[in-house]
Amino acid sequence: MARIVVLGGGESGVGAAVLAQKKGYDVFLSDAGVIKDKYRDMLDRYGLSWEDGKHTPELILNADEIIKSPGIPDTAPMMQQIHRQGIPVISEIEFAGRYTNAKMICVTGSNGKTTTTSLIYHIFRTAGYNVGLAGNIGRSLALQVAEENFDYYVIELSSFQLEGMYDFRANVAVLLNITPDHLDRYDYNMQNYVDAKMRIIRNQTTDDSFIYWEDDPIIARELKKYDIKSHLCPFSAIKEHGAIAYISDGHYEIEYPTPINMEEEELALTGRHNIYNQLAAGISANVMGVNGKVIVESLKNFQGVPHRLEKVAKVRGVQYVNDSKATNVNACFFALESMKTPTVLILGGTDKGNDYNEILPLVKEKCRALVFLGADNKKLHDFFGPVGIPIADTHSMADCVKACYEFAQPGDTVLLSPCCASFDLFKNMADRGNQFKELVCKL
Ligand code: ADP
Repeated sequence: MARIVVLGGGESGVGAAVLAQKKGYDVFLSDAGVIKDKYRDMLDRYGLSWEDGKHTPELILNADEIIKSPGIPDTAPMMQQIHRQGIPVISEIEFAGRYTNAKMICVTGSNGKTTTTSLIYHIFRTAGYNVGLAGNIGRSLALQVAEENFDYYVIELSSFQLEGMYDFRANVAVLLNITPDHLDRYDYNMQNYVDAKMRIIRNQTTDDSFIYWEDDPIIARELKKYDIKSHLCPFSAIKEHGAIAYISDGHYEIEYPTPINMEEEELALTGRHNIYNQLAAGISANVMGVNGKVIVESLKNFQGVPHRLEKVAKVRGVQYVNDSKATNVNACFFALESMKTPTVLILGGTDKGNDYNEILPLVKEKCRALVFLGADNKKLHDFFGPVGIPIADTHSMADCVKACYEFAQPGDTVLLSPCCASFDLFKNMADRGNQFKELVCKL
Protein backbone atom coordinates (compact mmCIF):
# COMPACT_ATOMS: atom_id res chain seq x y z
CA MET A 1 0.00 0.00 0.00
CA ALA A 2 1.50 3.35 -0.98
CA ARG A 3 2.22 5.64 1.96
CA ILE A 4 1.17 9.28 2.02
CA VAL A 5 2.45 11.60 4.71
CA VAL A 6 0.63 14.88 5.23
CA LEU A 7 2.57 17.75 6.80
CA GLY A 8 0.41 20.28 8.64
CA GLY A 9 -2.74 19.53 10.62
CA GLY A 10 -4.95 22.48 9.67
CA GLU A 11 -7.90 22.68 7.28
CA SER A 12 -5.92 21.71 4.22
CA GLY A 13 -3.81 18.93 5.78
CA VAL A 14 -6.63 17.20 7.63
CA GLY A 15 -8.81 17.29 4.51
CA ALA A 16 -5.98 15.74 2.49
CA ALA A 17 -5.49 13.00 5.11
CA VAL A 18 -9.19 12.12 5.10
CA LEU A 19 -9.29 11.91 1.31
CA ALA A 20 -6.05 9.88 1.13
CA GLN A 21 -7.44 7.39 3.60
CA LYS A 22 -10.65 7.11 1.66
CA LYS A 23 -8.65 6.37 -1.46
CA GLY A 24 -6.89 3.47 0.28
CA TYR A 25 -3.47 4.91 1.14
CA ASP A 26 -1.48 4.22 4.28
CA VAL A 27 -1.75 7.73 5.77
CA PHE A 28 0.18 9.57 8.48
CA LEU A 29 -0.18 13.24 9.44
CA SER A 30 2.48 15.23 11.27
CA ASP A 31 2.42 18.80 12.57
CA ALA A 32 5.36 20.46 14.35
CA GLY A 33 2.93 22.80 16.14
CA VAL A 34 -0.23 22.12 18.12
CA ILE A 35 -3.19 20.74 16.17
CA LYS A 36 -6.49 22.43 17.06
CA ASP A 37 -9.08 20.34 18.94
CA LYS A 38 -11.48 20.51 16.02
CA TYR A 39 -8.93 18.85 13.72
CA ARG A 40 -7.71 16.33 16.34
CA ASP A 41 -11.31 15.19 16.75
CA MET A 42 -11.71 14.84 13.02
CA LEU A 43 -8.48 12.83 12.66
CA ASP A 44 -9.59 10.52 15.48
CA ARG A 45 -13.08 10.19 14.08
CA TYR A 46 -11.61 8.91 10.83
CA GLY A 47 -9.16 6.65 12.73
CA LEU A 48 -6.12 8.38 11.19
CA SER A 49 -2.58 8.16 12.64
CA TRP A 50 -1.09 11.51 13.53
CA GLU A 51 1.38 13.36 15.74
CA ASP A 52 1.80 16.97 16.78
CA GLY A 53 4.46 19.04 18.54
CA LYS A 54 7.16 17.26 16.50
CA HIS A 55 8.09 15.64 13.20
CA THR A 56 9.36 12.05 13.63
CA PRO A 57 11.71 11.45 10.67
CA GLU A 58 11.22 7.64 10.63
CA LEU A 59 7.48 8.08 10.21
CA ILE A 60 7.85 10.72 7.50
CA LEU A 61 10.86 9.85 5.35
CA ASN A 62 9.35 6.46 4.39
CA ALA A 63 6.57 8.22 2.42
CA ASP A 64 5.99 7.63 -1.28
CA GLU A 65 4.50 11.10 -1.55
CA ILE A 66 4.23 14.09 0.78
CA ILE A 67 1.27 16.48 0.85
CA LYS A 68 2.52 19.76 2.30
CA SER A 69 0.23 22.39 3.79
CA PRO A 70 0.74 25.81 2.23
CA GLY A 71 1.89 27.39 5.51
CA ILE A 72 5.07 25.28 5.74
CA PRO A 73 8.07 26.93 4.04
CA ASP A 74 10.54 24.86 2.02
CA THR A 75 13.27 26.10 4.33
CA ALA A 76 11.81 24.16 7.30
CA PRO A 77 14.40 21.55 8.39
CA MET A 78 11.97 18.65 7.77
CA MET A 79 11.31 19.86 4.22
CA GLN A 80 15.03 20.06 3.53
CA GLN A 81 15.42 16.42 4.56
CA ILE A 82 12.46 15.42 2.39
CA HIS A 83 13.93 17.22 -0.62
CA ARG A 84 17.34 15.62 -0.01
CA GLN A 85 15.69 12.19 -0.15
CA GLY A 86 13.91 13.14 -3.37
CA ILE A 87 10.39 12.36 -2.10
CA PRO A 88 7.76 14.07 -4.31
CA VAL A 89 5.95 16.93 -2.56
CA ILE A 90 2.53 18.13 -3.73
CA SER A 91 -0.19 20.44 -2.44
CA GLU A 92 -3.58 19.40 -1.11
CA ILE A 93 -5.25 20.92 -4.17
CA GLU A 94 -3.08 18.86 -6.52
CA PHE A 95 -3.99 15.72 -4.61
CA ALA A 96 -7.72 16.47 -4.47
CA GLY A 97 -7.76 17.31 -8.18
CA ARG A 98 -6.87 13.68 -8.97
CA TYR A 99 -10.16 12.45 -7.56
CA THR A 100 -12.80 14.71 -9.05
CA ASN A 101 -14.10 15.49 -12.52
CA ALA A 102 -15.77 18.68 -11.31
CA LYS A 103 -15.09 21.85 -13.28
CA MET A 104 -12.49 24.01 -11.53
CA ILE A 105 -12.73 27.79 -11.44
CA CYS A 106 -9.46 28.93 -9.85
CA VAL A 107 -8.62 32.43 -8.67
CA THR A 108 -5.20 33.80 -7.85
CA GLY A 109 -3.47 37.18 -7.66
CA SER A 110 -1.68 39.22 -5.05
CA ASN A 111 -4.88 40.98 -4.00
CA GLY A 112 -8.60 40.45 -4.49
CA LYS A 113 -8.63 36.64 -4.37
CA THR A 114 -11.12 36.21 -1.53
CA THR A 115 -13.44 38.93 -2.80
CA THR A 116 -13.47 37.56 -6.35
CA THR A 117 -13.74 33.91 -5.32
CA SER A 118 -16.65 34.70 -2.97
CA LEU A 119 -18.38 36.72 -5.67
CA ILE A 120 -18.04 33.96 -8.30
CA TYR A 121 -19.41 31.47 -5.76
CA HIS A 122 -22.31 33.82 -5.01
CA ILE A 123 -23.15 34.07 -8.73
CA PHE A 124 -23.03 30.29 -9.25
CA ARG A 125 -25.15 29.66 -6.15
CA THR A 126 -27.70 32.24 -7.25
CA ALA A 127 -27.83 30.51 -10.63
CA GLY A 128 -28.61 27.23 -8.86
CA TYR A 129 -25.36 25.42 -9.73
CA ASN A 130 -24.14 22.50 -7.58
CA VAL A 131 -20.97 24.32 -6.50
CA GLY A 132 -18.40 24.16 -3.69
CA LEU A 133 -16.17 26.95 -2.35
CA ALA A 134 -12.63 25.87 -1.52
CA GLY A 135 -8.95 26.75 -1.22
CA ASN A 136 -8.02 29.45 1.24
CA ILE A 137 -11.70 29.98 2.05
CA GLY A 138 -13.97 27.66 3.98
CA ARG A 139 -13.54 23.91 3.85
CA SER A 140 -10.57 22.34 2.06
CA LEU A 141 -11.04 21.04 -1.47
CA ALA A 142 -9.81 17.60 -0.39
CA LEU A 143 -12.43 17.24 2.32
CA GLN A 144 -15.19 18.28 -0.04
CA VAL A 145 -13.97 15.85 -2.69
CA ALA A 146 -14.02 13.15 0.02
CA GLU A 147 -17.46 14.00 1.37
CA GLU A 148 -19.46 15.84 -1.30
CA ASN A 149 -20.30 15.52 -4.94
CA PHE A 150 -20.10 18.97 -6.45
CA ASP A 151 -20.11 19.62 -10.20
CA TYR A 152 -18.14 22.86 -9.88
CA TYR A 153 -15.59 24.24 -7.44
CA VAL A 154 -14.59 27.86 -7.06
CA ILE A 155 -11.10 27.78 -5.54
CA GLU A 156 -8.95 30.55 -4.07
CA LEU A 157 -5.31 29.68 -4.71
CA SER A 158 -2.34 31.28 -2.98
CA SER A 159 1.13 31.19 -4.49
CA PHE A 160 2.04 28.58 -1.86
CA GLN A 161 -0.69 26.23 -3.04
CA LEU A 162 0.22 26.80 -6.67
CA GLU A 163 3.82 25.83 -5.99
CA GLY A 164 2.82 22.26 -5.18
CA MET A 165 0.64 21.84 -8.28
CA TYR A 166 1.84 19.83 -11.29
CA ASP A 167 -0.97 18.02 -13.16
CA PHE A 168 -3.91 20.00 -11.80
CA ARG A 169 -5.91 21.75 -14.52
CA ALA A 170 -8.00 24.89 -14.03
CA ASN A 171 -10.96 24.99 -16.45
CA VAL A 172 -11.18 28.68 -15.68
CA ALA A 173 -8.02 30.38 -14.41
CA VAL A 174 -8.31 33.92 -13.04
CA LEU A 175 -5.13 35.95 -12.49
CA LEU A 176 -6.13 39.28 -10.93
CA ASN A 177 -2.78 41.03 -10.55
CA ILE A 178 0.82 40.44 -9.49
CA THR A 179 2.48 42.83 -7.06
CA PRO A 180 5.14 42.14 -4.42
CA ASP A 181 3.92 39.98 -1.52
CA HIS A 182 5.32 37.21 0.67
CA LEU A 183 8.82 38.04 -0.55
CA ASP A 184 10.14 36.72 2.74
CA ARG A 185 9.08 33.24 1.54
CA TYR A 186 10.68 33.71 -1.90
CA ASP A 187 14.28 34.59 -0.95
CA TYR A 188 13.29 38.23 -1.60
CA ASN A 189 13.31 37.29 -5.31
CA MET A 190 10.18 38.64 -6.98
CA GLN A 191 10.53 36.36 -10.02
CA ASN A 192 10.15 33.24 -7.83
CA TYR A 193 6.83 34.60 -6.59
CA VAL A 194 5.73 35.55 -10.13
CA ASP A 195 6.62 32.05 -11.41
CA ALA A 196 4.46 30.51 -8.67
CA LYS A 197 1.48 32.67 -9.67
CA MET A 198 1.85 31.82 -13.36
CA ARG A 199 1.47 28.12 -12.56
CA ILE A 200 -2.29 28.72 -12.61
CA ILE A 201 -2.28 28.32 -16.43
CA ARG A 202 -0.26 25.07 -16.41
CA ASN A 203 -2.12 22.24 -18.15
CA GLN A 204 -4.89 24.46 -19.54
CA THR A 205 -6.25 23.26 -22.90
CA THR A 206 -8.15 24.84 -25.78
CA ASP A 207 -11.39 24.06 -23.87
CA ASP A 208 -10.37 26.30 -20.96
CA SER A 209 -10.38 30.03 -20.29
CA PHE A 210 -7.70 32.32 -18.89
CA ILE A 211 -9.05 35.54 -17.39
CA TYR A 212 -6.48 38.19 -16.46
CA TRP A 213 -5.99 41.88 -15.86
CA GLU A 214 -4.80 43.27 -19.17
CA ASP A 215 -3.06 46.35 -17.71
CA ASP A 216 -0.87 44.59 -15.19
CA PRO A 217 2.71 45.16 -16.40
CA ILE A 218 4.04 41.99 -14.80
CA ILE A 219 1.30 39.78 -16.27
CA ALA A 220 1.83 41.41 -19.69
CA ARG A 221 5.54 40.67 -19.51
CA GLU A 222 5.04 37.09 -18.35
CA LEU A 223 2.44 36.20 -20.98
CA LYS A 224 5.11 36.52 -23.67
CA LYS A 225 7.01 33.63 -22.09
CA TYR A 226 4.20 31.07 -22.27
CA ASP A 227 2.53 29.14 -25.06
CA ILE A 228 -1.02 29.56 -23.79
CA LYS A 229 -3.63 27.25 -25.29
CA SER A 230 -6.73 28.43 -23.44
CA HIS A 231 -9.14 31.21 -24.53
CA LEU A 232 -7.66 34.53 -23.48
CA CYS A 233 -10.17 36.74 -21.66
CA PRO A 234 -8.41 39.97 -20.62
CA PHE A 235 -10.27 42.64 -18.65
CA SER A 236 -9.40 46.30 -18.19
CA ALA A 237 -10.76 49.43 -16.54
CA ILE A 238 -11.18 51.04 -19.97
CA LYS A 239 -12.40 49.93 -23.39
CA GLU A 240 -9.26 50.59 -25.42
CA HIS A 241 -6.83 47.61 -25.55
CA GLY A 242 -7.91 44.10 -26.49
CA ALA A 243 -10.03 43.62 -23.36
CA ILE A 244 -13.26 41.63 -23.58
CA ALA A 245 -14.66 43.23 -20.42
CA TYR A 246 -14.32 46.80 -19.18
CA ILE A 247 -16.04 49.96 -17.95
CA SER A 248 -17.23 52.20 -20.75
CA ASP A 249 -19.28 55.42 -20.35
CA GLY A 250 -20.41 54.44 -16.85
CA HIS A 251 -21.37 50.94 -17.99
CA TYR A 252 -20.01 47.58 -16.91
CA GLU A 253 -19.66 45.55 -20.10
CA ILE A 254 -18.66 42.03 -21.00
CA GLU A 255 -18.44 41.25 -24.71
CA TYR A 256 -17.87 37.52 -24.71
CA PRO A 257 -19.39 34.90 -24.92
CA THR A 258 -22.78 36.38 -23.89
CA PRO A 259 -22.83 40.19 -24.04
CA ILE A 260 -23.60 41.72 -20.63
CA ASN A 261 -24.21 45.39 -19.95
CA MET A 262 -25.21 47.11 -16.69
CA GLU A 263 -24.81 50.50 -15.03
CA GLU A 264 -21.50 50.78 -13.19
CA GLU A 265 -23.24 52.42 -10.25
CA GLU A 266 -25.46 49.36 -9.76
CA LEU A 267 -22.44 47.22 -8.89
CA ALA A 268 -22.52 46.16 -5.23
CA LEU A 269 -18.80 46.74 -4.55
CA THR A 270 -17.17 50.16 -4.81
CA GLY A 271 -13.56 51.22 -5.39
CA ARG A 272 -11.46 50.76 -8.52
CA HIS A 273 -9.96 47.48 -7.32
CA ASN A 274 -13.45 46.05 -6.94
CA ILE A 275 -14.26 46.96 -10.55
CA TYR A 276 -11.51 44.57 -11.55
CA ASN A 277 -12.76 41.89 -9.18
CA GLN A 278 -16.30 42.25 -10.49
CA LEU A 279 -15.15 42.11 -14.12
CA ALA A 280 -13.14 38.94 -13.43
CA ALA A 281 -16.07 37.33 -11.60
CA GLY A 282 -18.57 38.28 -14.31
CA ILE A 283 -16.39 36.81 -17.07
CA SER A 284 -15.82 33.59 -15.07
CA ALA A 285 -19.54 33.00 -14.71
CA ASN A 286 -20.17 34.02 -18.30
CA VAL A 287 -17.66 31.59 -19.82
CA MET A 288 -19.15 28.79 -17.72
CA GLY A 289 -22.57 29.49 -19.21
CA VAL A 290 -24.32 31.20 -16.28
CA ASN A 291 -27.37 33.14 -17.43
CA GLY A 292 -26.54 36.82 -18.05
CA LYS A 293 -29.52 38.12 -16.04
CA VAL A 294 -28.41 36.09 -13.02
CA ILE A 295 -24.89 37.49 -13.33
CA VAL A 296 -26.23 41.05 -13.35
CA GLU A 297 -28.56 40.41 -10.38
CA SER A 298 -25.76 38.78 -8.39
CA LEU A 299 -23.35 41.63 -9.10
CA LYS A 300 -26.00 44.02 -7.77
CA ASN A 301 -26.83 42.19 -4.55
CA PHE A 302 -23.48 40.77 -3.40
CA GLN A 303 -22.94 41.54 0.29
CA GLY A 304 -19.12 41.82 0.26
CA VAL A 305 -16.61 40.11 2.52
CA PRO A 306 -15.67 41.20 6.08
CA HIS A 307 -12.32 42.97 6.67
CA ARG A 308 -12.15 44.23 3.07
CA LEU A 309 -12.96 47.95 2.98
CA GLU A 310 -15.74 47.17 5.44
CA LYS A 311 -17.63 50.19 6.73
CA VAL A 312 -17.76 49.81 10.52
CA ALA A 313 -19.54 52.87 11.93
CA LYS A 314 -19.79 56.63 11.78
CA VAL A 315 -18.81 58.23 15.09
CA ARG A 316 -19.13 62.03 15.48
CA GLY A 317 -19.11 62.44 11.71
CA VAL A 318 -16.02 60.23 11.22
CA GLN A 319 -16.37 57.10 9.07
CA TYR A 320 -14.36 54.13 10.36
CA VAL A 321 -13.33 51.55 7.73
CA ASN A 322 -11.88 48.11 8.44
CA ASP A 323 -9.52 46.92 5.71
CA SER A 324 -7.49 44.67 8.01
CA LYS A 325 -7.02 42.23 5.12
CA ALA A 326 -4.74 44.77 3.42
CA THR A 327 -1.58 42.91 4.40
CA ASN A 328 0.58 44.30 1.61
CA VAL A 329 1.33 47.74 0.18
CA ASN A 330 -0.68 47.34 -3.04
CA ALA A 331 -3.90 46.50 -1.19
CA CYS A 332 -3.48 49.66 0.90
CA PHE A 333 -2.80 51.62 -2.29
CA PHE A 334 -6.23 50.74 -3.67
CA ALA A 335 -7.93 51.39 -0.35
CA LEU A 336 -6.32 54.83 -0.04
CA GLU A 337 -7.07 55.58 -3.67
CA SER A 338 -10.77 54.97 -3.05
CA MET A 339 -10.87 57.43 -0.08
CA LYS A 340 -12.91 60.52 -0.84
CA THR A 341 -12.22 62.42 2.43
CA PRO A 342 -9.16 63.33 4.50
CA THR A 343 -7.96 60.09 6.05
CA VAL A 344 -6.33 58.95 9.26
CA LEU A 345 -4.43 55.86 8.14
CA ILE A 346 -3.44 53.00 10.42
CA LEU A 347 -0.26 51.22 9.29
CA GLY A 348 1.94 48.54 10.80
CA GLY A 349 2.41 44.94 11.90
CA THR A 350 4.74 42.30 10.52
CA ASP A 351 6.48 43.77 7.51
CA LYS A 352 6.98 41.31 4.62
CA GLY A 353 9.74 43.26 2.87
CA ASN A 354 7.53 46.28 2.10
CA ASP A 355 8.49 49.20 -0.12
CA TYR A 356 6.25 52.09 0.99
CA ASN A 357 7.15 54.29 -2.00
CA GLU A 358 4.06 52.98 -3.79
CA ILE A 359 1.71 54.69 -1.34
CA LEU A 360 3.82 57.77 -0.57
CA PRO A 361 2.08 60.15 -3.04
CA LEU A 362 -1.38 59.06 -1.81
CA VAL A 363 -0.34 59.41 1.82
CA LYS A 364 0.88 62.96 1.10
CA GLU A 365 -2.31 63.79 -0.80
CA LYS A 366 -4.94 62.19 1.45
CA CYS A 367 -3.70 61.56 4.97
CA ARG A 368 -4.40 63.93 7.84
CA ALA A 369 -2.40 61.74 10.18
CA LEU A 370 -0.75 58.33 10.43
CA VAL A 371 -1.18 55.96 13.34
CA PHE A 372 1.41 53.19 13.57
CA LEU A 373 0.24 49.97 15.18
CA GLY A 374 2.88 47.31 15.61
CA ALA A 375 5.29 45.67 18.04
CA ASP A 376 8.12 47.53 16.28
CA ASN A 377 7.28 50.64 14.25
CA LYS A 378 10.83 51.76 13.49
CA LYS A 379 10.75 51.12 9.73
CA LEU A 380 7.53 53.14 9.44
CA HIS A 381 8.99 56.04 11.44
CA ASP A 382 12.15 56.03 9.32
CA PHE A 383 10.14 56.12 6.08
CA PHE A 384 7.20 58.39 6.91
CA GLY A 385 8.80 60.57 9.61
CA PRO A 386 10.38 62.99 7.09
CA VAL A 387 6.99 63.53 5.34
CA GLY A 388 5.89 65.88 8.12
CA ILE A 389 2.37 64.47 8.67
CA PRO A 390 1.34 64.05 12.36
CA ILE A 391 2.16 60.53 13.58
CA ALA A 392 1.12 58.50 16.63
CA ASP A 393 3.08 55.46 17.77
CA THR A 394 0.92 52.69 19.29
CA HIS A 395 1.35 49.05 20.28
CA SER A 396 -2.23 47.98 21.04
CA MET A 397 -5.56 48.36 19.25
CA ALA A 398 -7.00 50.29 22.22
CA ASP A 399 -4.28 52.96 22.00
CA CYS A 400 -4.51 52.98 18.22
CA VAL A 401 -8.26 53.63 18.13
CA LYS A 402 -7.83 56.31 20.80
CA ALA A 403 -5.16 58.06 18.72
CA CYS A 404 -7.35 57.90 15.60
CA TYR A 405 -10.27 59.36 17.52
CA GLU A 406 -8.10 62.28 18.61
CA PHE A 407 -6.69 63.01 15.15
CA ALA A 408 -9.89 62.65 13.09
CA GLN A 409 -12.19 65.58 12.38
CA PRO A 410 -15.85 65.43 11.33
CA GLY A 411 -16.05 64.40 7.66
CA ASP A 412 -12.81 62.37 7.84
CA THR A 413 -12.31 58.64 7.39
CA VAL A 414 -10.26 56.45 9.71
CA LEU A 415 -8.85 53.62 7.62
CA LEU A 416 -7.27 50.45 9.02
CA SER A 417 -5.33 49.28 5.93
CA PRO A 418 -2.04 48.34 7.51
CA CYS A 419 0.16 47.01 4.64
CA CYS A 420 1.45 44.34 7.02
CA ALA A 421 0.59 40.94 8.45
CA SER A 422 -0.92 40.96 11.93
CA PHE A 423 0.95 38.25 13.79
CA ASP A 424 3.11 40.54 15.95
CA LEU A 425 0.15 41.74 18.04
CA PHE A 426 -2.87 39.69 16.90
CA LYS A 427 -3.87 36.09 16.22
CA ASN A 428 -4.54 36.91 12.58
CA MET A 429 -5.97 39.63 10.37
CA ALA A 430 -9.55 38.79 11.41
CA ASP A 431 -8.66 39.21 15.09
CA ARG A 432 -7.08 42.59 14.24
CA GLY A 433 -10.19 43.65 12.30
CA ASN A 434 -12.59 42.41 14.98
CA GLN A 435 -10.73 44.22 17.78
CA PHE A 436 -10.83 47.37 15.68
CA LYS A 437 -14.57 47.01 15.07
CA GLU A 438 -15.35 46.31 18.74
CA LEU A 439 -13.38 49.31 19.99
CA VAL A 440 -14.83 51.62 17.34
CA CYS A 441 -18.34 50.58 18.33
CA LYS A 442 -17.55 51.51 21.95
CA LEU A 443 -16.36 55.05 21.06
P1 ADP B 1 -6.75 38.34 -1.08
O1 ADP B 1 -7.63 37.16 -0.79
O2 ADP B 1 -6.01 38.21 -2.37
O3 ADP B 1 -5.88 38.74 0.05
P2 ADP B 1 -9.03 40.10 -0.64
O4 ADP B 1 -10.20 40.02 -1.52
O5 ADP B 1 -9.11 39.45 0.68
O6 ADP B 1 -7.75 39.55 -1.40
O7 ADP B 1 -8.64 41.62 -0.45
C1 ADP B 1 -7.43 41.93 0.26
C2 ADP B 1 -7.15 43.40 0.27
O8 ADP B 1 -6.79 43.84 -1.03
C3 ADP B 1 -8.33 44.22 0.70
O9 ADP B 1 -7.82 45.07 1.67
C4 ADP B 1 -8.80 44.97 -0.52
O10 ADP B 1 -9.12 46.30 -0.21
C5 ADP B 1 -7.62 44.91 -1.49
N1 ADP B 1 -8.02 44.50 -2.83
C6 ADP B 1 -9.10 43.75 -3.18
N2 ADP B 1 -9.13 43.54 -4.50
C7 ADP B 1 -8.04 44.11 -5.04
C8 ADP B 1 -7.49 44.24 -6.37
N3 ADP B 1 -8.10 43.68 -7.43
N4 ADP B 1 -6.34 44.93 -6.51
C9 ADP B 1 -5.71 45.48 -5.45
N5 ADP B 1 -6.18 45.42 -4.18
C10 ADP B 1 -7.32 44.75 -3.96
